[in-house]
Amino acid sequence: MNARIESLVRPEIRALRAYQVPESAGLIKLDAMENPYTWPEALQSEWLETLRGLELNRYPDPKGLVLQAALREAMAIPDEMGVLLGNGSDELIQMLALTLAQPGAKVLSVDPGFVMYRMIGLFAGMDYVGVPLQSEDFSLDLQAVLAAIERERPALIYLAYPNNPTGNRFDADDMVRIIESASGLVVVDEAYAPFTDASFLGLVGDWDNLVVMRTLSKMGLAGLRLGYLVGPPAWLAEIDKVRLPYNINVLTQVSAAFALRHKAVFDAQARAIRAERSRLLEALDSIPGLHPYPSEANFILTRVPAGRAGAIFAGLKQAGILVKNLDGTHPLLADCLRFTVGTPDENAALVRALGGTPARDGPGLGAGNKSAHFGAL
Ligand SMILES: *Cc1c(COP(=O)(O)O)cnc(C)c1O
Repeated sequence: MNARIESLVRPEIRALRAYQVPESAGLIKLDAMENPYTWPEALQSEWLETLRGLELNRYPDPKGLVLQAALREAMAIPDEMGVLLGNGSDELIQMLALTLAQPGAKVLSVDPGFVMYRMIGLFAGMDYVGVPLQSEDFSLDLQAVLAAIERERPALIYLAYPNNPTGNRFDADDMVRIIESASGLVVVDEAYAPFTDASFLGLVGDWDNLVVMRTLSKMGLAGLRLGYLVGPPAWLAEIDKVRLPYNINVLTQVSAAFALRHKAVFDAQARAIRAERSRLLEALDSIPGLHPYPSEANFILTRVPAGRAGAIFAGLKQAGILVKNLDGTHPLLADCLRFTVGTPDENAALVRALGGTPARDGPGLGAGNKSAHFGAL
């Protein structure tokens, strides 16, 4: 490698690979937890009208106050709590790391979990402490988490609720124990809030070290890049200092505020995705050799027969379906694929490609040839 690069770039950065996003043109995209539904025609026209008068020559509102007000109303954010906007929750994770990084400061989460907690911590020079989840159901190992908190004294703790990539939601009492035991800041990451009934949003303020992070991405606005952090104003005032000016662009501010005024559309889509999730789980479960895990998110983690994940991933891609292969990313995810819940047609295509019978076809259809295509993959 170029000697100058070698001497100037930190070894931990040189050792990394840039975040990889696979080519997906022409494929059924079930890899990235996107909402598969678009907007009704009339709503699209109405949205385009809101963009007409925008002055792109001007900087955006630095705090996005109109958007903040729309978020407060749509998401029932407690009045006394602060709101901080990020260019996706990824940017909020970065702001949290920049705020709390100092020599010796650590970030703790559970593994397998969302990789950006560790990555961004590393970018900011924070050591990452990962506590393994329980192997049978990916639940929290509370004693291990509490012991790690005691031992490592992390400045920052992330708990995704529900968790990615496992899809389960941790026990709420365990979460409270962690919040109460932590001397650091606890971030409850509710990226999958649209797909579960549980939330800590109504509890922010109950502890002075709890903030809740959300995003509009999984709800159906991944292209806009908007995340938000809710918590005690004193915390958010510090984190706000490392925010880049104008981090939320004009188009996102106006479009997200518009979308939130029509939240009912997204709520209906989330309900459809939740209903499809049940049907997909059932269909996957009936395919011999597959073990799908229950999910409160918009994806289903599935264990496939040992040593077959790569071949099944490739077979699905050949069949025009892109999923996420998690085999090899963590010992607990050996032989695991992650399927984002798509439209009924997309899910049926997935189930068929796996050799199963889409739930929609009803009982009794094709029970005899469940594994026919599966072997071929
Ligand atoms: C997808 C995801 C995010 C990132 O969301 P963006 O707002 O799109 O950056 C954050 N946390 C978890 C757990 C996720 O799965």
